[in-house]
Amino acid sequence: MPIVRVALDVPLPTLFDYTVAEGIAVAVGQRVIVPFGKRQMVGVVMECATSTEMAPERVKPVKEVLHDSLPLSAELLDLLRFCSDYYRYPIGQTVLAALPVRLRSDKPVVGKPVLSYRLSASGVALDMELFPKRQVVQRRILAKLAEQPCNLAQLKSLSATAGKQLKVLVAEGWVESFTGALPSTGSGRTASSVQKHAFDNAHTLTGEQQQAVDAVTQAQGYACFLLHGITGSGKTEVYVHLMHDVLQRGGQVLLLVPEINLTPQLEQYFRSRFSDVNLVSLHSGLSEGERLHNWQQAQSGAARVVLGTRLAVFAELPDLALIVVDEEHDSSFKQQDGLRYSARDVAIFRASQRGVPIVLGSATPSLESYHNAQSGRYRLLRLTGRALVKARLPAVRCININQTVMHHGISENLLREIGQRIARREQSLLFINRRGYAPVLMCTGCGWLSGCKHCAGKMVLHLNDKRLRCHHCGYQLHVPHACPSCGNAELHPVGSGTQRVESVLQERFPEARILRVDRDSTRNKRAWQTMREQIHANEVDILVGTQMLAKGHDFPALTLVGVLNPDSALYSSDFRAAEKLFAQLAQVAGRAGRADKPGEVLIQTAFPDHPLFRALQAHDFEGWAASQLAERQMVGFPPFVYQAMLRAEGKDATEVYAFLNQARTAALELRQPVEILGVVPAALPRRANHIRAQLLIQSAKRSGLQQFLRAWQPLLDALPAQKLRWSLDVDPLEF
Ligand code: ADP
Ligand code: ZN
Ligand code: ZN
Repeated sequence: MPIVRVALDVPLPTLFDYTVAEGIAVAVGQRVIVPFGKRQMVGVVMECATSTEMAPERVKPVKEVLHDSLPLSAELLDLLRFCSDYYRYPIGQTVLAALPVRLRSDKPVVGKPVLSYRLSASGVALDMELFPKRQVVQRRILAKLAEQPCNLAQLKSLSATAGKQLKVLVAEGWVESFTGALPSTGSGRTASSVQKHAFDNAHTLTGEQQQAVDAVTQAQGYACFLLHGITGSGKTEVYVHLMHDVLQRGGQVLLLVPEINLTPQLEQYFRSRFSDVNLVSLHSGLSEGERLHNWQQAQSGAARVVLGTRLAVFAELPDLALIVVDEEHDSSFKQQDGLRYSARDVAIFRASQRGVPIVLGSATPSLESYHNAQSGRYRLLRLTGRALVKARLPAVRCININQTVMHHGISENLLREIGQRIARREQSLLFINRRGYAPVLMCTGCGWLSGCKHCAGKMVLHLNDKRLRCHHCGYQLHVPHACPSCGNAELHPVGSGTQRVESVLQERFPEARILRVDRDSTRNKRAWQTMREQIHANEVDILVGTQMLAKGHDFPALTLVGVLNPDSALYSSDFRAAEKLFAQLAQVAGRAGRADKPGEVLIQTAFPDHPLFRALQAHDFEGWAASQLAERQMVGFPPFVYQAMLRAEGKDATEVYAFLNQARTAALELRQPVEILGVVPAALPRRANHIRAQLLIQSAKRSGLQQFLRAWQPLLDALPAQKLRWSLDVDPLEF
């Protein structure tokens, strides 16, 4: 009896064996419906075998083989096997998590697989001289298909009525449809056959840009490039030219970006540069149907460019020839639950598996990537000047908050500068990484603070709906009229968030048009889009916002950036806090002075001489990174060690700590060359009434850590943990 080994979405580290009835063909990568316990589930065939170790009477048959989408490629399955092993996550859950939701359900996929079209034999034999001249659209379709097979979406770019006319051509027998990938490299799209597409070559590349493009296009097989270019240096333009080159050679491009907010913008931009190239996006903002459709477009080879957030790293791309990871330092490439993967790292593995180049782009590379570039594992490409000669880097200055008059968190100097910008009809941006009105409410009588009763954190004051809200667990309360502890009626907001900054500005500049951009003001899907349009139309004088505003946006009228309270990151317990702050401030600073007007950045701080601010002022990423790396090396932090974090949480503290201590004992008994730290409370030791603690493991070698984790995991699985949630996080970013 033939046997298939199936990946199922269950939390067990194994595949499951099923028999296949006589006469049913089933291949690796196909989706099947199988019985599991009392249920039936969708799984993916990972292996075909002839025998099983299970007792024959216990092996059940596959119920159905699904033919509603193309089988997954061996390459993708290998990638997922690697992820499952590397991130210590069950293989079945890894495989199913990589698929669009529709492909995970046991209901047949609504909608058919994407069809492609080509000329039939009689279509090829048609004499176009004799073909009716007035059938313009039909002629266009035939001409296009004579060049290359296409899918409907590509044909629709020829004419709005292409769908209807295509039906006619199919009915006449001149065109035929087929499922499956459009011919890929080796079957039509070879390196020598140049693929034509429209390309808007908007700019002549600068010397540095050209060098970067040449280095990547000349790469043979796998190579990892770190494109380090200051904001506005034209990294996007480099990506565009690389894409052009790959598209011409018949390859597909995967472009990963950190923010779902940025994808529509970039999508539009790339479409404008490659007007007839089939480009799809993949991100969590799409409906299930759209996501499936785009995924299948990539899988069939119809889509030539895939633009997406981290989940797109698992898209099927039969002709993949280049991967670009933009803003590679961004922590949103790391998934924080389930399969805790880093899309950047998986992308690098994928490129090496496939033997194609990968480009990591950033103005402030992660110290991991920068270190790899310095040690020669990656190749460093630098863009040191701004692409537009007129655009200069902004001047950065610090305002010592201990030596100036402050108005609810905003210094007099900064307010004056804002006033001047308003008079000149230029925009200002105030950057503050806290939403709400104030991070905590305090009683002036007894010192009571608005703590969350479910968490170890504080409740944030939101004045517009008069509530205290916990940003960790979502718990909320009406603002009390008097202190719950002593009855005193005088309660004071301490510190500021975006709402408070907004109201201070409103008071000082009653005429000014102020726009607050944070998660509260952009909950509605279209809100952010509308706001961007307002900013571009210069209908806004002052922007107040969180990191949402820092990333990748181009606001030409913006000439002043004020940074309100960056200091807490300087003495954070998270060793990456300073690295993140530098990246964030360099990003916001990059928003200022993009056009012909010089920009200025004012940082409010109690530590104006701190090396971080010094480096920012000098626009000296290199110096800053070198000093950070030296420090990390001295104390033994990443990238000089590799880490894994075991986290546990539960209602009962004793149980949580008992679990972690047992895990630690088991780790010590393995006697492997890894460093096993102590069990400690998490940075937020209590959240939603759950006690949280953690145990860190580190090793000087990645392979050493991996070997240890492979041995440790089964011991963890065997520990009693009924009322606990625990997880292993390999290469953790959060502490
Ligand atoms: P980055 O992604 O590095 O922040 P962008 O790619 O957005 O930079 O480029 C910044 C600006 O410079 C954009 O307006 C872009 O159109 C322009 N630009 C890029 N390359 C060139 C070039 N070679 N010549 C003229 N303008 C350019
Ligand atoms: Zn009180
Ligand atoms: Zn809470």
